[in-house]
Amino acid sequence: MKKEIVSVVACKDYDYLKVRAAIERNFEDLGGISRFIKKGDRVLLKLNLLMKKKPEEATTTHPIFTKALASILIDYGAEVIIGDSPGGPFNTNALKGIYRACGIEKVAEEVGAKLNYNTNSAEIENKEGLLLKKITGIAVLQEVDQVISVSKLKTHGMMLFTGAVKNMFGIVAGLEKAEYHVRMPKNVDFSNALVDICIAAKPVLSFMDGIVGMEGAGPSAGDPREIGAVLASTSPYHLDVVATNIINLNPMKVPTIQRCVERSLCKGNFEDIQLKGDHLEQFRIKDFIIPEIRSIDLLEGKLPKFLREILNSAMQPKPVFTHETCVGCGDCGKFCPPQVITMTEKRPFVDLEGCIRCFCCQELCPVKAVEIHRPLLMKLMARL
Ligand code: SF4
Ligand code: SF4
Repeated sequence: MKKEIVSVVACKDYDYLKVRAAIERNFEDLGGISRFIKKGDRVLLKLNLLMKKKPEEATTTHPIFTKALASILIDYGAEVIIGDSPGGPFNTNALKGIYRACGIEKVAEEVGAKLNYNTNSAEIENKEGLLLKKITGIAVLQEVDQVISVSKLKTHGMMLFTGAVKNMFGIVAGLEKAEYHVRMPKNVDFSNALVDICIAAKPVLSFMDGIVGMEGAGPSAGDPREIGAVLASTSPYHLDVVATNIINLNPMKVPTIQRCVERSLCKGNFEDIQLKGDHLEQFRIKDFIIPEIRSIDLLEGKLPKFLREILNSAMQPKPVFTHETCVGCGDCGKFCPPQVITMTEKRPFVDLEGCIRCFCCQELCPVKAVEIHRPLLMKLMARL
């Protein structure tokens, strides 16, 4: 059986030289840069730049991680372009604000990497996709020779975990992402779409910033947690399996990993993984806070369909807005995929009838004013 290498290297903090040394060890473990990148290649570093957040908030790929990886590639002879299509609008002003707030503008300048400001979209064929045979992607994908995923190890309200596979959702251009949520409101479909998007992006390598990750109400409303790991693999699927293991999350509970296993992209365990780097046990965090499973779809196969449908309507989790914390920016309403949030006197109110439970409102709220509540019975069912 072919085994995919996943390299996990210890790195306790964002000291530039230490991070660079860790990434260099990752490259050695994977067989050297030249196996993947040719001198002169244009390489897109697809970061996780969800929104304007300071690096220490652990929502976005850390600038020092980005700087270290970019400078290694530039020293090798590649041309590096840094980019993402973040959560909100995809235009020059929005990108500029995010690059600056996340500390990426500064490090790009320091190492001579380019920031992507091409906000056009392009149709990307995806013959290997299951649900998505075409993707409306960011046009910069057509300008580069290679894509490298540079994700952040975090929990996620809808998908439990966001790592290498989910990171590639950011190749979907701007507000098209909301369209995908609306078209595929079921967890199983949406997770299949995420796998399709990752396949379409064809990352030649996947790195993960697991030096400080996010636990709890990720991907943006959780808390930073020191993990001390720099991860890399040629396979985003196997990388996610190892990353979930580090945070003591059963990989088979993660919808994207479930889909990958169903589609024979990985086994969902260590049978088809060759670990390299430091000993995995040293990274494992037993009490990493994982969000509760938010979708009854995850019970598919465990309960009869009619029962699931009854439970679905009776036990849906729901977004709850804390009006005292809310600053009235309106972003949750602007970017709610089915547009079921209305602002009244600068405070959001949701029509739960039309809510598809994508939790984008929580993800994009800049002040953590959105919580996801769910009935006690559902918490119990989710443990089945
Ligand atoms: S209210 Fe929130 S969870 Fe519901 S559809 Fe809108 S963004 Fe998604
Ligand atoms: S809940 Fe958050 S995103 Fe929505 S209006 Fe208030 S501050 Fe803005």
